[in-house]
Amino acid sequence: MLHYITIISSQDVIPSMKPLFIKNMTLPEAEVLFASLNEKPYRAQQLFNWLYERNIDSFMEMTNFSKDLRRTLAEQYVLSPLSLEERQVSRDGTEKFLFRTCDDNFIESVLLKNDGTEDGRLTICISSQIGCAMGCSFCETAKIGFRRNLETAEIIDQVCHVRRLSGLKNNNIVFMGMGEPFMNYDNVLKAADIMNYSFGFHISTRKITISTCGVLPGIERFIDEKRPYNLALSLNDTLPEKRQKVMPVEKKYPISNISELLERKFPVSRNRVTLEYVMRGDNISKEDAMRLKKMFRYSRIKLNLIKLNEGKHSLDIPSPEKVDDFIRELMIMNIPISIRKSLGSDISAACGQLSGKRYDEKLTIVINKDCADAETIIEEHVQQCGT
Ligand code: SAH
Repeated sequence: MLHYITIISSQDVIPSMKPLFIKNMTLPEAEVLFASLNEKPYRAQQLFNWLYERNIDSFMEMTNFSKDLRRTLAEQYVLSPLSLEERQVSRDGTEKFLFRTCDDNFIESVLLKNDGTEDGRLTICISSQIGCAMGCSFCETAKIGFRRNLETAEIIDQVCHVRRLSGLKNNNIVFMGMGEPFMNYDNVLKAADIMNYSFGFHISTRKITISTCGVLPGIERFIDEKRPYNLALSLNDTLPEKRQKVMPVEKKYPISNISELLERKFPVSRNRVTLEYVMRGDNISKEDAMRLKKMFRYSRIKLNLIKLNEGKHSLDIPSPEKVDDFIRELMIMNIPISIRKSLGSDISAACGQLSGKRYDEKLTIVINKDCADAETIIEEHVQQCGT
């Protein structure tokens, strides 16, 4: 029998039943749990070893725990909040996983095995929200609107499943799947911390990248809290008016304020901030390159170029010749660039193509009360797209 906690707030008209996920727990929280069960604190590390290093899928496999303890945990907690719905393999080896949550929502994760890097990088691209409220016009996730934030356990369980299903241990994590990580700051950072535990996945802080469309309060908090993970910022345009047309977040948090914040606060000792730049037909002129050059007065950044992937948007995908010209221009200007290979596009697993298949149908957008900042943006999005 599972125990449930009932969450009742003034905004909840109908009380919701919420299962307890064991993977929501940090080490100190697990230590408190074991103390309450009259167990020694070292049990917490053992638990994390079972959950992540050994990646078990049943409490009964925890053989150094007594049968009673295993039974108690199984009665009180859900081990795996996600179940696999569909797995697709791309021609280039990229794999896409569609997961169902306990409340019958769908999210996607991508395993990138062949990104051409010399360090043998094996990357899992994970989702942080069900849908997204940010309304970027080139992104498929935006088309489904926003449903809710993922819990920490739902974020981590994507990695557990992908590792178990593929038999591969990734050494790299990117928060570049569905959703805006900084609109779900607490759960995302907690998941990153747990994935970094040495007695768990033990993924290095420098191999965990959080990508944001530019949620300024999240970026500021990330810097103030001295979070050790890589930061990526989706720039995608150099002119505010043009950026605003494709990324409504520019209206609320202009990129100029973010650059000012980074110049003022981002520590010199840190890995550089990656500026992601999706190349469209109308943002790769010589003038764009020159404006980027100006931005690079501030040296703590590097540029990651991504060719616009196909989707339900009406934006121009640039020709290979135009892309080459732009890259040459940036190289002449000595701007530090890397070019992201578009992987998995034949199974809609490339950047901006994740939608959670079950969302192909038109859905009602539900605004989560934890995501107040997104409300104005989503409203603008609804007006623009007539969703
Ligand atoms: N919300 C976060 C993370 C998800 S998007 C963010 O905006 O950064 C991850 C990356 O995919 C972003 O850099 C985004 O600009 C890029 N992207 C979105 N749609 C794309 C598309 N159609 N083609 C190429 N890249 C895209």
